[in-house]
Amino acid sequence: MPSTKYIFVTGGVTSSLGKGIVSASLATLLQSRGYSVTIQKLDPYLNIDPGTLNPYEHGECYVTNDGAETDLDLGHYERFLNRPTSQANNVTTGRIYQSVIDKERRGDFLGKTVQVIPHITDEIKRRIQILGNTGEFEIVITEIGGTVGDIEALPYIESVRQLRWELGDDCMVIHLTLIPYLAATGELKTKPTQHSVKALQESGVQPDVLVCRCEHSIGEEIKRKLALFCNVKKEAVIESLDAETIYAVPILMRNQRLDEVVLNRLNLPVEDNLDLVNWKDFLYKLKYPKSEIRLGLVGKYVELQDSYKSIVEAFIHAGAANECKVHIVWIHSETLTVENAGKHLKEVDSLLVAPGFGERGFEGKLEAIRYARENNLPFLGICLGMQAAVIEFARNVLGWKDANSTEMNPKTRYPVIDLMKEQKKVKDMGGTMRLGACDCDLVEGSKVREVYKRKQISERHRHRFEFNNKYLDDFEKAGLKATGTNPDMGLVEIIELDNHPWFVGVQFHPEYKSTVANPHPLFVKFVEAIIKASK
Ligand code: GLN
Repeated sequence: MPSTKYIFVTGGVTSSLGKGIVSASLATLLQSRGYSVTIQKLDPYLNIDPGTLNPYEHGECYVTNDGAETDLDLGHYERFLNRPTSQANNVTTGRIYQSVIDKERRGDFLGKTVQVIPHITDEIKRRIQILGNTGEFEIVITEIGGTVGDIEALPYIESVRQLRWELGDDCMVIHLTLIPYLAATGELKTKPTQHSVKALQESGVQPDVLVCRCEHSIGEEIKRKLALFCNVKKEAVIESLDAETIYAVPILMRNQRLDEVVLNRLNLPVEDNLDLVNWKDFLYKLKYPKSEIRLGLVGKYVELQDSYKSIVEAFIHAGAANECKVHIVWIHSETLTVENAGKHLKEVDSLLVAPGFGERGFEGKLEAIRYARENNLPFLGICLGMQAAVIEFARNVLGWKDANSTEMNPKTRYPVIDLMKEQKKVKDMGGTMRLGACDCDLVEGSKVREVYKRKQISERHRHRFEFNNKYLDDFEKAGLKATGTNPDMGLVEIIELDNHPWFVGVQFHPEYKSTVANPHPLFVKFVEAIIKASK
């Protein structure tokens, strides 16, 4: 196999320009031309992983099959490419330093002074090439978090400089920048981009392609100007206009021929084989839905919707599969009370109670679930949402008034959700939850068995607490059934309510596995049930 090609994506001018989406879109185009591609993200912060960061800091923490707690951009990579990522796809400065310091303690550096260059940069370069060295991928796209000029990003940019030198033509750099529009003078401004390219050049890195985010078309004149000032070919100045949906970005990038520019630069053939038929079909269904539903999403970070990124995207996929527009109505769990839960939920056709941690807003989640259970409102509970459904049932159907999770009340008389024995010993909070893919057996005749159409499934987990099997019989006799269990540990992974149009709680996170090519069956069938129930 010829050598792996490396594409680096850096950012300039400001953060949040969508490097993740541009990387995923380019990868989608290359994959649609038959290339095997993967994307990885280098995060310059010092945490080992984002698992211990709260959603205000970092949005959703995405989980891979192998149990890595990662940046939410990995979710985009999987959703666009329909290919799983792993621990190797997300590297942080914390992890880099940890391995270098571990080596130092082992004496691996043989008495040398350990320095940023070459020891940290060598470790960065080694990590960058792990996926390429598996031989599985022809092209590895590496997104560098943060913005050029950030102090934390310096060792990464230096590593890119070294790799460009070592890999020659097998390596290229795409720089994503912003072309702001000054309404007062009606002008698009290129100076911030010129400065950020200069900052990159000062670090010894010359970008090959500029992707320019803009609200208004930049036109030929600005492309010519940027090409001249930034040492790039004019056709390599790519306009990236704001899109209606992130899923339209591959098409916008195609229209600007980003894929061709990249393949030419990497000396790879550009054949007439680009296949975007299914992608365009998905976009069409997204744009022209035939029905609409309103889903109430209850959580405590509703003002920060990135916290529920994968759930929102899973509903976009499932909506398109049903040719239905899913309107998400965000409901803050802290505002829900016994008195007003009904009023809030009368406005929606269905309820989703989101994953979460801690006591804040928890009682409001229980009220929402009670309303859904009593009023036949289709309900899906994910992780903490499933645990809340169990607690609500224990309190209001079984009559165990102080039933709770020991996460919320360690002294409860009815710990219907509790820590597993192994979890009780845990002292370090980072990376110690039940994480990653686990098998789950589905009960014959259950709703989920119909949904998945299989006996065994595998889904990803991220939690410490579990259903307490001591109470299983009481629940089942009263009508709340365990319809999915872990074959190795007997843990309850799914609960379902009898005599309800759709009441399902899952201990795992199905949202992580939904992709454009493969919308998740649980979301697809949930949306289908909502459409049916709201007719
Ligand atoms: N806080 C709960 C637990 O740790 C649920 C976690 C979640 O919703 N991801 O078990």
